[in-house]
Amino acid sequence: MIEVDTVTMLKPDDIKALIGVLSQVIAEHADELTALDAAIGDGDHGYNMKRGFEALAGEADALSAKPIGEALKAAGMKLVMTVGGASGPLFGTLLMTLGKEIGETPDRAAFNGAFRKAVDSVAARGKSEKGQKTMLDVLYPISDALDGGGDPLGISVAAEKAAESTIPVVASRGRASFLGERSAGHMDPGSRSAALLTKAIADFMEKRL
Ligand code: ADP
Ligand code: MG
Repeated sequence: MIEVDTVTMLKPDDIKALIGVLSQVIAEHADELTALDAAIGDGDHGYNMKRGFEALAGEADALSAKPIGEALKAAGMKLVMTVGGASGPLFGTLLMTLGKEIGETPDRAAFNGAFRKAVDSVAARGKSEKGQKTMLDVLYPISDALDGGGDPLGISVAAEKAAESTIPVVASRGRASFLGERSAGHMDPGSRSAALLTKAIADFMEKRL
């Protein structure tokens, strides 16, 4: 089993490769994410995310040369500046807080603690909580799975299940909440993004380390 604290073993080349993988996954699913957002939002989520992750890929050399905390903070700021919409500042806040909290050589407990704080900071920024059909419905279960000692595969399965669990929910935050009852029956786009990114990271960790 691969331990998540192998995050500390990521070398600059691994970080660079991971950024490339994440950018590719988002690009491959941009139409799907945008279609999810077209159903219950304004149909820009996939393109927003694609723009942001392309920007990260464009700076992969500079990002991967930084210590892990600084790299996460810089990546978060880049997402805030390039993704736009509601999801840019929220995913950006996640990475910026993770970068601030993670420390220089995090062990597994330090990573998990920093991730929990990062998710809480998204909730504070979005004035939202779990259960409202937002990305938090996936981010909190990821944090729970990390705390539960799950391996990368288990964590990515938990994230996918959590994204699917948003389908029947009536949205009470974000644009989808404007639709009221009509928001039920569709997966939350930000939750799908969070699950896709988690699966890509988990697959990467399983293969690389
Ligand atoms: P916008 O809604 O501004 O068009 P996007 O389409 O890029 O932005 O992102 C929408 C996603 O952002 C939603 O699917 C949801 O997961 C997330 N989101 C929106 N508002 C909030 C909030 N207040 N708290 C947490 N997540 C949110
Ligand atoms: Mg949108």
